[in-house]
Amino acid sequence: SNKTAKDVLSYAKEHGTQMVSLRFIDFIGRWRHFAVPLHELSEGIFEEGLGFDGSSIKGWLEIHNSDMLVIPDPNTAVMDPFTQTPTLVLLCNVSDPITKEQYMRDPRNIAARAEKYLKSTGLADTAYFGPEAEFFIFDGVRYSTEPHHMFFEVDSIEGAWNTGREEPGGNLGYKPGFKDGYNAVMPTDAHNDMRDEMCRILGEVGISVERQHHEVATAGQSEIDFRFDTLVKTADNLMWFKYVLKNVAARHGKTVTFMPKPLYGDNGSGMHTHQSLWKGGKPLFAGESYAGMSEMALHYIGGILKHARALAAICNPTNNSYKRLVPGYEAPVNLAYSSRNRSASIRIPMFSASPKAKRLEFRSPDPSCNPYLAFAAQLMAGLDGIENKIDPGDPLDKDIYGLSPEELKDVPKMPGSLEEALDCLKKDHKFLLKGDVFSEDALESWIEQKQKEVDAIRLRPHPMEYQLYYDI
Ligand code: GLN
Ligand code: MG
Ligand code: MG
Ligand code: MG
Repeated sequence: SNKTAKDVLSYAKEHGTQMVSLRFIDFIGRWRHFAVPLHELSEGIFEEGLGFDGSSIKGWLEIHNSDMLVIPDPNTAVMDPFTQTPTLVLLCNVSDPITKEQYMRDPRNIAARAEKYLKSTGLADTAYFGPEAEFFIFDGVRYSTEPHHMFFEVDSIEGAWNTGREEPGGNLGYKPGFKDGYNAVMPTDAHNDMRDEMCRILGEVGISVERQHHEVATAGQSEIDFRFDTLVKTADNLMWFKYVLKNVAARHGKTVTFMPKPLYGDNGSGMHTHQSLWKGGKPLFAGESYAGMSEMALHYIGGILKHARALAAICNPTNNSYKRLVPGYEAPVNLAYSSRNRSASIRIPMFSASPKAKRLEFRSPDPSCNPYLAFAAQLMAGLDGIENKIDPGDPLDKDIYGLSPEELKDVPKMPGSLEEALDCLKKDHKFLLKGDVFSEDALESWIEQKQKEVDAIRLRPHPMEYQLYYDI
């Protein structure tokens, strides 16, 4: 759909809009906004933009050079279902006020350039993405990083218990054990009604939900899947998804977290990402090769696997991400592909024989990533595979968790830490620079920002260290 500024203004009036929330995506992937009364929204703003101070956004501009513009995208107009005052939301791209050029570190610009690059190759005209962002619903979290009262505790619905500690008034009901929550029904699943409400409101903001269910981890891990779409559109949808889920949970006095591994000893939250390429309305990933795939799809897999360790710095961009990527919790460690095997980092789903459904599922990403950067980077890796006809090797149709170290010695592995992933990205990022999709500047700033997160953990004694070493 191609809406104009005029369309947005009449949509705003029809819906009784009083305020307009201008939202952009910060570097690490969170929504930021400022709101203006409707009378401040003119047609001109869709061309010229509105100014704001970009210096307070981590990883963006310096204080002496901080003026920026948001340029609202008229195709994104949706009413906010949560504000008391009727508010129209517009998602924005960020530009430089002097040169009027796209800001190179704006994730939405980067994602749009990836789509543009795809078209420019002539290989395909559309990339579809379908993320399965898993999450936990908790009461909340109490934590302190001060050494003299260091503690960390996640509350489940009946009270704190994940630390294994019983608290007065808490942990009274039955809860599924670790890894026993999959597809539980009420009342074991205490959040079914809340997820139904999330689905309903997702529908109101234009997101087509496909299913909701309790996930594998104990009380509270959940999944809601929505329909795939094009790259930027899917990243936009994922931003709405997180916003709706967090706000519905807040209505019920709960919180939603997308951190990849909140609980020691239980499954973490992944964001399996389904993807396929199309041209002229025809699917390009179906064919006569392994698992009903085309050669192009195999080369795409070759590209993802080749660059997977560098991709980790973008698709698994937190310290916590690497606590999920360990054997035994349905999260991939080994870089391999398979049609049957959920322990491989790339799976080819076989639910449907239709060529239109032919896609691959990259299972290592997690929902702490910035979806604009993560989808763009995956597409660039896959395209690099097609452009260079990268052979993905043989599929690994065995339970990888059950293989011996000897059998696994030639299978490459995901990085073990954020620091290792950043190192991989430093060494392997040329594939991201094609078509100026990512700039050197954006990648340097990303690495610098993420190194700060590495240090934030690295420099602090961990609570567990006291247990292991205090009495040494
Ligand atoms: N939670 C698992 C992960 O971390 C996936 C579980 C599933 O969807 N079967 O990827
Ligand atoms: Mg799923
Ligand atoms: Mg799942
Ligand atoms: Mg999946």
